[in-house]
Amino acid sequence: MATIEIRDLRLSFGALDVLKQLNLDIAEGEFIVLLGPSGCGKSTLLNCIAGLLDVSDGQIHIGGRNVTWEEPKDRGIGMVFQSYALYPQMSVRGNLSFGLKNQRLPKAEIEQRIARAAKVLQIEPLLDRRPAALSGGQRQRVAIGRALVRDVDVFLFDEPLSNLDAKLRSELRVEIKRLHQQLENTMVYVTHDQIEALTLADRIAVMRGGVIQQLADPATIYNKPTNLFVAGFIGSPS
Ligand code: ADP
Ligand code: MG
Repeated sequence: MATIEIRDLRLSFGALDVLKQLNLDIAEGEFIVLLGPSGCGKSTLLNCIAGLLDVSDGQIHIGGRNVTWEEPKDRGIGMVFQSYALYPQMSVRGNLSFGLKNQRLPKAEIEQRIARAAKVLQIEPLLDRRPAALSGGQRQRVAIGRALVRDVDVFLFDEPLSNLDAKLRSELRVEIKRLHQQLENTMVYVTHDQIEALTLADRIAVMRGGVIQQLADPATIYNKPTNLFVAGFIGSPS
């Protein structure tokens, strides 16, 4: 079970109220995209779900469990950031297994998980290379692989494709979509890219100033934006 329920979530940095009583229910296996302009609070919301930020008020439930004050490592989530954050001195294999070190898994299980992730992401021939010998797209696949080997129910992506060129972006978009269809895990995916949101999401949450302006499937967001902000941001046809 990996639903996510966010209840009356508030987060302030000093006097700056970034998230204002935000509510969001995410279904098991759903691909939710948080879409909005820079500074609207997308990463802040994702970091609250991940446990990387302490909330000011409200609750977060993952899989029916109140995780609001749980450590990130206990929340059953895998996170992929915009910057690849791979360990340069380790091989791809080393990078993939590093996050499993404190899980006390048998060696055979670790190898099995690495093999499976490498197959899914098509990085099998790269396992013995160092990150410096990889392209940007390959590095980002390894970064996704690090979340994958942890065998979690929930993936959190923070603009994972923003540093890539347009061609790689569209390639990896297709792969992330395929990954989700294969794994059927719950995805929360942050982007400011409308195309990414429209092609990947089951539902899009359009954010502005720490508030969700509209939450709906891509066709509804595109064809029936609830206000001028959403219409302008998505680029409505009418
Ligand atoms: P987004 O990911 O949508 O671009 P963020 O969630 O990163 O937006 O930021 C939302 C707002 O919170 C911005 O105004 C940003 O400047 C501010 N902010 C983010 N992190 C911090 C922090 N650690 N301290 C103070 N302000 C922050
Ligand atoms: Mg951000």
